[in-house]
Amino acid sequence: MRLSSALAQRVALALVIGGTGACSGTPPLPSPLAAAPVERGSGCATSTVRIDFDFEEASASRCVIRGERSFAILIGPEHAPPINPSPWYAFRYRASGSADISVELDYLGAAHRYAPKLTAGGTVAPLSASVAADGMSATLSLPAGEGIVSGQELFGNDRYDALLDRLAALPAAERRTLGASLDGRLLSAVHIGDTKAPRLVVLIGRAHPPEITGALAMDAFLRALADEIAAGRVDTAATQFLILPLLNPDGVARGHWRANRGGVDLNRDWGNFSQPETRAVKNWLDRLPAGVRPVAMVDFHSTQHSLFYVQGADETTPAEEAFLAAWLGGKEKALPGYPFTIERRNANPGSGTSKNWFHATYGIPAYTYEAGDEADRAGIDAAAGKLARAFLSALPRPARVGGPASATGN
Ligand SMILES: [Zn+2]
Repeated sequence: MRLSSALAQRVALALVIGGTGACSGTPPLPSPLAAAPVERGSGCATSTVRIDFDFEEASASRCVIRGERSFAILIGPEHAPPINPSPWYAFRYRASGSADISVELDYLGAAHRYAPKLTAGGTVAPLSASVAADGMSATLSLPAGEGIVSGQELFGNDRYDALLDRLAALPAAERRTLGASLDGRLLSAVHIGDTKAPRLVVLIGRAHPPEITGALAMDAFLRALADEIAAGRVDTAATQFLILPLLNPDGVARGHWRANRGGVDLNRDWGNFSQPETRAVKNWLDRLPAGVRPVAMVDFHSTQHSLFYVQGADETTPAEEAFLAAWLGGKEKALPGYPFTIERRNANPGSGTSKNWFHATYGIPAYTYEAGDEADRAGIDAAAGKLARAFLSALPRPARVGGPASATGN
């Protein structure tokens, strides 16, 4: 098709110029988990303003000077379309003087999705944007001074490290490295509970880099889970947890829209296991002791509105339906600041989502927890805490002593 091929060319051009353009910025900041250099976006500077892409999660965009205090930023995906239309941008600016500066976000391959946020002085505030009628650009006015402008608040490797350390400090918990990404970043997980506990809960997050609200929901969910475990309200001799909150560390570090370093959507790779990130989880599951089997899986994401993708009505068992009713039933409008819907989706064979693979492989409830892009942050946080406690209560009861769980159907 003529239009899409022109678009692909435009994007390819942007990727090329973005990747090879002279970098006017300072060298990339070191990241404790970074093992390979990241091609950063191409910054630009006038005598009073500079724009850089010199930090983790910065987008691989290109800055264009239009005037002393006027700029355009070309925002392209990490590979040519088709790609999920979630154009991520994140850049740093420093502007002396007192007048505002103007920045036009020019999207290549998708329309404006994320309302801009300004991180400055330790706080994050929404910015208003004037979005073009066709959605392909948006113009921002930034105050003099300095800050980071991004599609969502940043949530990077350092914050994951701190989260994993907090979890690993729990009784019967430890950090595990499941593998390494293509860039050589560690796939860091926490395992909690007795390794012979018959029931395994798998919690996964951040397959998709821009999906920050899903990361915020998972963070709050895990804090509540940690509180329950610390208070002794979870029997970790009966239930163990594998928690991998950052499935795609390369995509996050590189400011991708969707894919990992291999250019693959990791939530379409379950079953193929062509990528080290998904393969690492599969390998870990394959080595589970006899008598241990997954009983539930939740994968945290973001989309336009808060929802849960769950199994279709004609592919679940009464036990799975009972779990769904106990966990989410009746809560759709009951959590202040966090209305959501429950979306039943039959497994599409070969779809490669974690939801469908875990359900098909283990016959367990396997859900996608999608937090809305612009969902109220306090609402996300409070709801995730309540949903974590409800999740623990809804898990199927442990088998009686002497009544071991059945072997996996893997
Ligand atoms: Zn997603």
